[in-house]
Amino acid sequence: MTGHVHSIQSLGTLDGPGLRFVVFLQGCNLRCKCCHNPDTWDMQSEKQFTPQEIVEKALHYKEYFGDKGGVTLSGGEPLLQPQFCYETFKLCHAKGINTCLDTSGNILNDNIKKLLGETDRVLLDIKYTENDLYLENVGCSLEKPLEFLYYLNEQKIPTTIRQVIIPTINDNQNNIQKLNKIVENHSCVDKVELLPFKKICQTKYDNMKIEFPFEHIPTPTKEMMNKLNELLK
Ligand code: SF4
Repeated sequence: MTGHVHSIQSLGTLDGPGLRFVVFLQGCNLRCKCCHNPDTWDMQSEKQFTPQEIVEKALHYKEYFGDKGGVTLSGGEPLLQPQFCYETFKLCHAKGINTCLDTSGNILNDNIKKLLGETDRVLLDIKYTENDLYLENVGCSLEKPLEFLYYLNEQKIPTTIRQVIIPTINDNQNNIQKLNKIVENHSCVDKVELLPFKKICQTKYDNMKIEFPFEHIPTPTKEMMNKLNELLK
């Protein structure tokens, strides 16, 4: 079995605890208007690796992982390749490596539940707290990631909620209050990260000759990010 891989970051600090070997998988079923990685959407890629090959590569960095670090599967949307992710995480655990899944949580089925059984932490995107914004800017309903979160909570899987702050869309107090409510209701969530919307992906859209839907939206100021972070409970 092989997984379609977009790219690998040997030692990343942004996608999960500690230093991590981050594998960005190819393929996504959503079309977020703020997407930084439109080049991961198409499932086809020239790079395919077996779970064994991924874990062998990750093992080269094991000494840097320490107590907290490990392997993160990100995307694209890793849930589109649940069997590959499951096998990779199972092998990681056999080698004593911590596992983390970075997902938008819009699919939940038996294969994914099996994968979550080998997942030490989930980084879950709650992109907006309003269903209308989800439908308009993501392509699924808010219910999907909330159902996913409900399951994570039932299974007591440690979860970090992440949200990209996009000026004029979700950079407001009301959104953070709703996010606080979601966190309050799910004890599996032990961390919330607000990430500033960035536009460095513009060149990817230009190269793909497609429009970046949020091209006109400014990036948030530091003051705005600080203010919203202070509102987080
Ligand atoms: S889920 Fe992630 S990869 Fe997929 S479209 Fe949204 S931001 Fe892009």
